[in-house]
Amino acid sequence: MNESDDPDRKSQRHAMVAEQIARRGVRSARVLAALERVPRHRFVSEDLLAHAYEDRALKIGGGQTISQPYMVAVMTECLEIGGCERVLEIGTGSGYQAAVLALLAREVFTIERNESLACSARERLSSLGYNNIRVIWGDGTIGDSEHAPFDALLVAAAAPAIPPPLLGQLAEGGRLVIPVGDAEQQTLTRIRKTGGRAIEERLFACQFVPLRGRYGRPEATV
Ligand code: SAH
Repeated sequence: MNESDDPDRKSQRHAMVAEQIARRGVRSARVLAALERVPRHRFVSEDLLAHAYEDRALKIGGGQTISQPYMVAVMTECLEIGGCERVLEIGTGSGYQAAVLALLAREVFTIERNESLACSARERLSSLGYNNIRVIWGDGTIGDSEHAPFDALLVAAAAPAIPPPLLGQLAEGGRLVIPVGDAEQQTLTRIRKTGGRAIEERLFACQFVPLRGRYGRPEATV
């Protein structure tokens, strides 16, 4: 991995993991180590560099955001990734969450519907040396039938309901984490497929940008 990092960024990242993530209850050593490693400052624009390790979501252009580090950590932990999984993410955005997943899983497919975000995430991830991530430009609510089934599936945008194709593309024993709710507030929800059945757990309240597309929210009218 070409992380070409300076010591200041490393110590900012260390503090981020200790104060924002471990202190709030994320326990998985593998998840904490991945968050310590991914250079979050390389996923934000120049003008936000000084804010890259703060405890909040940041704007990445096109009205979208890179999620708060804590949310990235919690969602990743919920997926219980052991190392040999095939993972699908919906909503690549900057590519940060995909990079975290790529350190933990065998391969990551990530779908972004905004073409310019998809292109810049693809370039960024490849220049950083993440070679087990495939960025796909398209509507993630229909999933990726070509590469299914997935052991873990993460939706990084707010869905009005769980898109049926995603459930269909989850492997037996697989986990799906997704914020479900209206535009203002959602509940982070985990689905586990067991014996062909989807077992749902509602975790906590959260706030994400809307999931658009076929099984998402209709386009906002101006
Ligand atoms: N995971 C990202 C942040 C995601 S923000 C990161 O680490 O930076 C949510 C993203 O979901 C936005 O980029 C938005 O364009 C995208 N999105 C919304 N609806 C989508 C859909 N149907 N398919 C794929 N991406 C979608």
